[in-house]
Formats: sequence, structure tokens, C-alpha cells
Amino acid sequence: MERKTRGSVINGYLDYIKKRWGAEGLKQCISEVGFEGMHFKDGHYYQDEMVGNVLRWISRTKGKDAVKDSGKFIMHNLGILSWLVRFTTVKTLAEKFPVNYSEVYAFGSCKVDTSDPKNLKLILRDVGYYEEACLVWEGICEEALAMTKTKGSVTHTKCQNRGDSECVFIVRID
Ligand SMILES: [Zn+2]
Repeated sequence: MERKTRGSVINGYLDYIKKRWGAEGLKQCISEVGFEGMHFKDGHYYQDEMVGNVLRWISRTKGKDAVKDSGKFIMHNLGILSWLVRFTTVKTLAEKFPVNYSEVYAFGSCKVDTSDPKNLKLILRDVGYYEEACLVWEGICEEALAMTKTKGSVTHTKCQNRGDSECVFIVRID
């Protein structure tokens, strides 16, 4: 299956790298993942493998927590919903995830089950096909809590990387 992702996502991760580790860090990443001379247009779609290479670079050189933080950064800075976040709840925000998802990722599927308001469920199919992708989603969910000033926690209860049929994240609201 061909997986494509919007350039805005790649640019978001590159911005994150630059913000955390400066121009030198960004240069190192670009050189090591083979992005020299490349420019990603926000509205164009690129092979998701390129996103994977950037996330694996972060994981390899900066650690897994830094990968999760990159998800928080993306959620905070790239979310087209960020302007209304202050006025909304984590549940409303979660309900917008699938539309948001399909606007930037041209593969896999994203569903949300908010029938239990204390345990919001995010279900991703064929999205978490490598570990770092799941770490990013954990960060995205945690940031959704933080941005809406909601106390709670996130657990990744099922994972395709561990042989489950889908990835499930539970956002528990205290
Ligand atoms: Zn997973």
C-alpha cells in the first residue's frame, strides 16, 4: 500500500527539530535522512516513509521522549483547530480528529469513540506501522489534554506493532 502524507507534516517535524536543536541539529537531520536540496510544499503529498525517516532519526539521536514531544509540537502548532482549542473540550477536540487526520494523511483510518465521556477512545488502523508513529499519537493525545486544560492520562492499549488488529489509545479524563 502506498502511504502519503502532506508536506505540512514533514515541515512541522523539521520546524520542531530546528526549534529544539537549532540550525545545526536540523542540518544534521537533513543530511542523515537524505533531504539535502529538498523543499516540501505544505499542500503537496509525499511518501510517508520520509516522515518515518525523520521520526526514526529523532528516536535514534534524541530518544523516544523527543519523538513523543514532536507529536505534542505538531498538535500544538499544526492543528488547524488550535485557534478554537481554548474554547472547547477534549471530547469535542477528539471528535474532530478523524477529519483532521484525513486532511493530512492519505492512508490508514482514524476513528474516535466518545460514548464513554471519561474514556475517550482513538482507534487507528494501518497508521502505527512503526513504533515512532505510535509515540507521536501518544503525544498528540497528551497535548489535546494539555491544550484544553483537562486533567487525565493517555494509554496505548492495543498496537498493530504488537500484533493487534488496530492501534487504540485511551484518553482517560480524571
Ligand atoms: Zn500502535
